[in-house]
Amino acid sequence: MKDFEAVIGLEVHVQLATHSKIFAVSSTKSGAEPNTFTDPVTLALPGCLPVLNKRVLDFAIKLGLATNCKIMRESILARKHYHYPDLPKGYQISQYDKPICLAGHVNVRVGGDVKRIGLTRIHLEEDAGKSVHLDAAPISLVDLNRAGVPLVEIVSEPDIRNAEEAGAYMRQLRQIVRYLDICDGNMEEGSLRCDANVSVRKIGATEFGTKVEIKNLNSFRYVEKAIDYEIERQIGVITSGGTIVQETRLWDDVSGETRSMRSKEYADDYRYFPDPDLLPLIVDDDWIDNVRKTLPELPEQAYRRFTNTYKLDPYIVELLTEEKLVSSYFDQAVSLHNNPTSIANWITTELFGRLNKEGTNLTECPVSPENLAQLVKLIDDGTISGKIAKTVFDEMFETGGSPAHIVETKGLRQVSDSGLIREAINAVITANPEQVQSYKSGKTKVFGFFVGQVMKDTQGKVNPTLLNELLKKTLDS
Ligand code: ADP
Ligand code: MG
Repeated sequence: MKDFEAVIGLEVHVQLATHSKIFAVSSTKSGAEPNTFTDPVTLALPGCLPVLNKRVLDFAIKLGLATNCKIMRESILARKHYHYPDLPKGYQISQYDKPICLAGHVNVRVGGDVKRIGLTRIHLEEDAGKSVHLDAAPISLVDLNRAGVPLVEIVSEPDIRNAEEAGAYMRQLRQIVRYLDICDGNMEEGSLRCDANVSVRKIGATEFGTKVEIKNLNSFRYVEKAIDYEIERQIGVITSGGTIVQETRLWDDVSGETRSMRSKEYADDYRYFPDPDLLPLIVDDDWIDNVRKTLPELPEQAYRRFTNTYKLDPYIVELLTEEKLVSSYFDQAVSLHNNPTSIANWITTELFGRLNKEGTNLTECPVSPENLAQLVKLIDDGTISGKIAKTVFDEMFETGGSPAHIVETKGLRQVSDSGLIREAINAVITANPEQVQSYKSGKTKVFGFFVGQVMKDTQGKVNPTLLNELLKKTLDS
């Protein structure tokens, strides 16, 4: 294994979150009764002409800008021919030699380093329908709800060298399309799918080896496992004197292997040509500028800003920038109370913990960023202790109430009145002469016992710093 290195390029299909299909009016929603979201264009009835959904182009340009691509002023929709029951026209409308985006890159964090992965191109496509093969009878059924759903395909350069980098790259793409709000990123439902091209070569070789394409990997884990398996398989073939055949393979997660599906098809096989039903796509500078104005802060920028401005731990920043919803939540809270470290901790521990436990996420969070900021403020100005804050937080999560209100109505305000604290201390000392004796004889560990007793007697409301100070004075005097 040590004499070889792998070369990997990914082709990632992203389902765009438009309401209607790429060339037709039917809905793109999933989960409907088969063949209910169809129309004459989707069914390829004779005499029907496709009309491009403008939003598809907006989304593709947005993605191209976010991944540092060149947006092409003219691109062409082409017919890619193959025959399959779920493709009623007999061809798929795609882009061939003139795609909408060229030559971009993304920066991916892998094991503490940042690696740049080149994008060859991003092109538009329509999805095909779905064939359902019944076990019981020699019958296959076709559902065309998905036919004509808009996709972009993101083709990477062969810059990836192992499964970990491939996984990180996929996660990064998912994060970007979700920040851009152009795809829900749901891999189980197929909104994001990946074909992995894998080859191996002797270390030091200048030419790439023959590649194998593994089709339709629809989870990060499958991408990583299939690549690992394939690298090992190819090295095995080569070291035992064989050669790699260029082919398309499938990942079988049950056996943990890739299996040969068919020999590789070449572009010539598809008889690509410009679709005469569709005009060239002409995009001018104004159009691109208008799309650029809609770009949000991207995950990489948010990561850098959180790291540099707030000096937060990289692991915490990773969690906070995973989703735009979370980073905006954090930003909002910090804008109301400037304690980023504490707010970050509350979000990533208590808040995420509770959301996880309830099996929900930030979209349905009962605790608003305003209320979380207010809670941290109440701790910072000494109104409540950190311990009481957890009780208040639980109540906030249950009721959606404001922390100030909860503290007042439940009488949870921290006691910082030294007179009252001294009284509580004296009561505990009087009631526990033996512990006082052992403290005096040098067993200073019992200090914690006194703290605990006073806290218990005061329902945890005593200011802990003040308590420590006064208790020590009293015991040492
Ligand atoms: P094809 O003509 O077979 O579709 P492309 O040149 O279009 O091949 O590349 C498809 C994908 O395969 C790209 O992501 C590219 O980076 C990757 N790729 C190309 N050559 C290799 C190779 N030798 N090993 C691994 N990946 C490769
Ligand atoms: Mg290709």
